[in-house]
Amino acid sequence: MNKLPFVVLWLIIAASCSFAQQAALTPEHHFARDIFKELIEINTTDTPSGNVTTAAEAMAVRFRAAGFAAEDVQVIGPLPNKKNLVARLHGRGQGKPILFLGHLDVVEALRKDWSMDPFKLNEVDGFFYGRGTSDIKQGDTELVANFLRLKKEGWVPSRDLILALTADEEGGESNGVQWLIKNHRDLIGAEYCINTDAGNFETKNGKRLLLGMQTSEKNYVDFRLEVKSNGGHSSRPVKGENAIYHLAQGLSRLAEFDFPVSLNETTRGFFERTAALETPATAADFRAVIGNDKAKAEAAARHLSAAPYFNALLRTTCVATRLEGGHANNALPQTAAANVNCRMLPQDSLQNVQSTLTRVLADNRISVSVVGEFVPAPASAINPAIVHTLEGLSARLYGGLPVVPVMDNGASDGKYLRIAGIPAYGVPGVFSDVDDDRAHGRDERIGVKDFYDGVDFYYEFIKALAGQPATAAR
Ligand SMILES: [Zn+2]
Repeated sequence: MNKLPFVVLWLIIAASCSFAQQAALTPEHHFARDIFKELIEINTTDTPSGNVTTAAEAMAVRFRAAGFAAEDVQVIGPLPNKKNLVARLHGRGQGKPILFLGHLDVVEALRKDWSMDPFKLNEVDGFFYGRGTSDIKQGDTELVANFLRLKKEGWVPSRDLILALTADEEGGESNGVQWLIKNHRDLIGAEYCINTDAGNFETKNGKRLLLGMQTSEKNYVDFRLEVKSNGGHSSRPVKGENAIYHLAQGLSRLAEFDFPVSLNETTRGFFERTAALETPATAADFRAVIGNDKAKAEAAARHLSAAPYFNALLRTTCVATRLEGGHANNALPQTAAANVNCRMLPQDSLQNVQSTLTRVLADNRISVSVVGEFVPAPASAINPAIVHTLEGLSARLYGGLPVVPVMDNGASDGKYLRIAGIPAYGVPGVFSDVDDDRAHGRDERIGVKDFYDGVDFYYEFIKALAGQPATAAR
């Protein structure tokens, strides 16, 4: 076959496909893309060139232009460059408000590390590139675009809907959620919060797998282990009197120790609902670990614990992360110390973890103290109404993918709300590939189709959560 016609044919197909994709964009998609571009191109890093307030103000301008009253669009915060946006769409007062959350700040990105300008929205080969495209300006966009669209459509929710776009989730001293809880609780008080910056709508090998709703996080706590000894000249060592040996032996005992397996509502739901997505052997372990047969559950937990991720879901973990000791090469040590980093299950207590460490170290010369201030966040009880809504949308939009409760090993701003008594649920809306997580890294990106689908998803999601009963029951 002559190659030329083939190439020409291919070009025609390619051109018409890209035309079809362009043509498929609705006015709402164009609108969302415009908001996304504006947010990506405002540098909101915690650096001298970054400014969260600029982004909050840019969104506030859009809200005011859409007809939101001035008092319903607040740009507030502790510092000139760390202001948060809080906007309110008034409802019919049937229930406490729902809070929707995203953060405006992003992790620093250096032009020299990237293959393009990180503060320009680049659309290349089906992906949007730019700092914040996946963490979490796509989430901010889903919320802003739909709050504005719903207002424009004259839709009135059953209850107030609050949008908070905040500062310093990634770092910095002015965490917006903490600041709002402390200073303007009235503005963000809600029955619960939906956080776009948690949970996972998972894609693997190009296939959408599940809708993960984050209900909880493990609690982070550091312990300082410390041993003192008398010291002295290293030419005259004293048996049994060496801080380094005491600490090292205690740490060896810790290395061999595992906290007991402890499941909760979320991890049970996770193992139950994702078993079908696993290989037969892993699926059997998922089912056994939540089953009633104790021996089988223990065996399954042992198998699963070989994988660091499953191990972390099953139990509190504590691991040595830093070590220090001694003060001179020719002196006996007077101090040896280690940092042990623990990730506690939400149902575990600080007291239990601390006393367990003390018991396992088994040496009363090793002191165990908590580093810094520790405030644990409880898990948010799974809210059946939200799960039901997500399942309905999953059936309608994604062929009925499972809705799976997830507990994260990392931390999100949902933690502060949970501590303050406002349950928080992570619902990203946008699907992303589990093997292509570039958040905080170079050439951060998100699929173009995934982005627009996320915008459409949140339109339906918000309407279903706060629609009239007849709509919600659909
Ligand atoms: Zn984030």
